[in-house]
Amino acid sequence: MHYTGTIWRPPYEASSLLLEVTAGCTHHRCKFCTLYADLPFAFFMSPLKDIEADLKEAMGMYRHVYKKTVARTFLTGANPFVLKPQRLTEIAGLIHKYFPKMETIGCFARITDIALKSDEELTALHKAGYDGLTIGMETADDTALRFMDKGYSSADIIEQCTRLEHAGIRYSFFYLTGISGAGHGEEGARVTAALCNGLRPVLIGANMLTVYPDSRLYGEIQKGSWEEESEKEKYREVRALVENLTIPTVFAAMGASNAFQIQARLPEDKEKLLKLLDDIIGNVGEDELQRYRKSVHHL
Ligand code: SF4
Repeated sequence: MHYTGTIWRPPYEASSLLLEVTAGCTHHRCKFCTLYADLPFAFFMSPLKDIEADLKEAMGMYRHVYKKTVARTFLTGANPFVLKPQRLTEIAGLIHKYFPKMETIGCFARITDIALKSDEELTALHKAGYDGLTIGMETADDTALRFMDKGYSSADIIEQCTRLEHAGIRYSFFYLTGISGAGHGEEGARVTAALCNGLRPVLIGANMLTVYPDSRLYGEIQKGSWEEESEKEKYREVRALVENLTIPTVFAAMGASNAFQIQARLPEDKEKLLKLLDDIIGNVGEDELQRYRKSVHHL
């Protein structure tokens, strides 16, 4: 299989076929991000012949080694949904050629990738199998989005996700706990919950900010132009997010950036989840949480 650099996928894509169609990120500017720093280029598009060769190899593996079928493909790279609709349709065609029973195709997508497509193109992509995108929206706090150079606003998130919903394409959000900076975490969470309450994300996955020295954000901290939240403030922020969500969705805090792995269904599990977060805030020391943060050498 053609896999380039570190391959990132959401925890819930663990059983999907991981197919490389791009590597890196077309944006490559978010101040906190070091995810694709190991690549020698910012963005790379796989040739169709490599994609087809990988599908052939994967077909052999599923047929002869795993002895089972796979129902979902996750296209790898930071934002494969940036590809032109024609390219995404060709990729879907190849997937269905080798895996006729493949039900859905997902990938990471930036808000700006959706904006590049017309409503008709989004509907056609859904018909071609695209469903279950993961969008690193991070926050609806416009000050934080601007400062971090995300390249879109909260109004863009609402507009583009509403368009996805009209096209029938489901999506999950990644939220970045800590993105608003010291003293602003809970307010950032509240405005994000308000935005989410007007949309229908299948899942909201919270990752906790971990600042690495090779990030632009580290430079901002050194200059004194941005201050990190304490670990306790990050947990108060998560609590404010959960408390203010009113839509039915799954809330998850999984992966290495979170000291405590959490997955819960809202609204059913809300009280239990708030109690768990209160226990963490009340009983786990800042020192202990800081020790965990320092131990996360790589996301
Ligand atoms: S956070 Fe996502 S969009 Fe921003 S630079 Fe990193 S991979 Fe690209």
